Amino acid sequence: MHDRNGMTREVWFGCIVTFLLGISVGSFLNVVIWRLPRNGSLVSPQWSYCPNCSHRLMGGDLIPLLSYLICGRKCRYCKKPISSRYFWVELLTGVLFVVLYLRFQPDMANVIALTMFGALLVPIYSIDMELFLIPNQLNLLVFAIAVGRDVYGIATHEPGHALYHGILPTSILGALTGIAIFGSVRVVGWIWKRVEAMGLGDVLLARAMGAMLVSIVPRGANSLRLVPIWVALSIGSGAIVGPAMIMLRRRARKAGKSSPASETITDVEDEDPSTLGRELRDILYVVWLEDAVEYVRYLFQRREINTPGLAEEDNWKPADTAIPFGPFMVIGFLAAIFVGEWLTSMYLTYALPVHSAAP
Ligand SMILES: [Zn+2]
Repeated sequence: MHDRNGMTREVWFGCIVTFLLGISVGSFLNVVIWRLPRNGSLVSPQWSYCPNCSHRLMGGDLIPLLSYLICGRKCRYCKKPISSRYFWVELLTGVLFVVLYLRFQPDMANVIALTMFGALLVPIYSIDMELFLIPNQLNLLVFAIAVGRDVYGIATHEPGHALYHGILPTSILGALTGIAIFGSVRVVGWIWKRVEAMGLGDVLLARAMGAMLVSIVPRGANSLRLVPIWVALSIGSGAIVGPAMIMLRRRARKAGKSSPASETITDVEDEDPSTLGRELRDILYVVWLEDAVEYVRYLFQRREINTPGLAEEDNWKPADTAIPFGPFMVIGFLAAIFVGEWLTSMYLTYALPVHSAAP
């Protein structure tokens, strides 16, 4: 059943299915990107609506990719142009699903875990880029998926998945490593320059990514194998692209246009004076306990789970020199899972020939 490229008919079929699934999921992610940080409910109203005229969108308006192209990139009811983000989010999610499937099939547990994880990285990237925040619910979900993948492997006695010292899923070790690395960037930034070098949302994202990278390492390899390349690529891409972003924003401001972030987030001068103790408390409490505390409170009081939405953050305005770091962690993570193995073995072969020569 192999064609010239060595792709079986099943794999081609899998690509088509994952693409169609991806663009449909992307369509829903557009709703997440719009509603979640604005404290809107994801389930009410149950229908999709035009963000401009609030007209309910019907079946024909909701076909991923096609509706946008056929309706002339405008709302059918009020004729206002629709942001091209809707189209690109659907297309990118479709493509992401296909490449994840091609990279990790036939290990379907990895394919399923990574498509769910990757799908959530789309709103994380987009919301952080626009509003400089990562909603807690998204960070909690990606962490649960990452540990869930590992626990599934442990439960089914999959090779490469085991309890560390008989108690801890190895993915938790990855989470701790992620927190330790990006949490120290935060603490060092505070000690050195009294600035928030790393948002708590970023540290929470590191928790999930560290766990996921450990969950998918092939059997026999060091479980933290992909972590250094992920950290290097995240910080490296931020260091290269970040200054360019700041320059573009300054130029846009000079031209009299303000960024979407500064339109929605109003200005204020004073900030809470932070202390080292508070920084450490933040990392210990927020990263490990806040989710659990919020969840218990939700169970007993049926309260909405708290989102660091715009309402809460409206007294904070990104400095001229601020860049969101979440998007670069997403780039570093994707690069690590696609080319991390290759880069790591290149590095071990050429930079450390002594080590690779050892048996
Ligand atoms: Zn409209």
